[in-house]
Amino acid sequence: MDAVRPFVVNVADLIHRPGARRHELLTGQISEEMHVAETVVAPNAPLEIDVVIEEASEGVVASGTAKTVWTAPCRRCLGPATSVFSVEFQELYSHHVDPEGETYPIRHQTIDLELVAREAILLDLPLAPLCSEACRGLCPSCGADLNDGPCPCATVPSDHRWAALNVLLPTTEPEH
Ligand SMILES: [Zn+2]
Ligand SMILES: [Zn+2]
Repeated sequence: MDAVRPFVVNVADLIHRPGARRHELLTGQISEEMHVAETVVAPNAPLEIDVVIEEASEGVVASGTAKTVWTAPCRRCLGPATSVFSVEFQELYSHHVDPEGETYPIRHQTIDLELVAREAILLDLPLAPLCSEACRGLCPSCGADLNDGPCPCATVPSDHRWAALNVLLPTTEPEH
């Protein structure tokens, strides 16, 4: 394993050997930042790639999972949100240069697994992340972070909108 490019692996032992396959568990860091909206995978975020590489007639197929960490402002409370997440991928690395760019290249009998990991991660980053599924968000009236406890608005006894609704409710008086 190359210490500088831990996700570049040599596949010389698989090329043109039908049925050949190899498992790799690679750990390192994302080389460049990635982001979708405000969700960011920082440069140097940990990246773990668990992959099986198999010989295919046109090259090799890499199938596995990539695991990293994203950070973002929470959609509800705007506080920091972060999560470890994993995505699955299955991609062909081809001997032939693909003018359409639909397959990844085998170069000098090596493949760069960070390429497929990055693409799979980008497709799966959350667009509206939460700091927690139970996040209470901000009070729409006073803007207080309700995760810190109830705000003064919560002590207002009744909202007029609900009072209006109460009028429409059927009477609860017993019938005679
Ligand atoms: Zn939140
Ligand atoms: Zn409030």
